[in-house]
Amino acid sequence: MTGPLPCPFCGRVPIVHLGKKGHCQLHGDPYQAVVVACRTSDCSAKPSVAAGDLYNGGEAKAKKEAIALWNRRPVIKLDPFGITKPGENVVIDQSQGIDNG
Ligand SMILES: [Zn+2]
Repeated sequence: MTGPLPCPFCGRVPIVHLGKKGHCQLHGDPYQAVVVACRTSDCSAKPSVAAGDLYNGGEAKAKKEAIALWNRRPVIKLDPFGITKPGENVVIDQSQGIDNG
């Protein structure tokens, strides 16, 4: 299983933990997601995502879903020659700005 990528705002390693247990308001069924979150004290964004359900698919599947959601990133094309591939680290050339097209 691939681990979570660093926080996109501060670059620190996020934590993976179980979310708060809840119950479906309609049917009363329990649910509990897995949360991936940046809890670094000096991270100004403190992003987090929650996905999966321990009661519907198990913890491993929920973790995989939460990490996949956290790891989702936009593909930013910075090199006109196509040297970098999606998911690779890229060096941002500040003089050229960012082209999201
Ligand atoms: Zn952060």
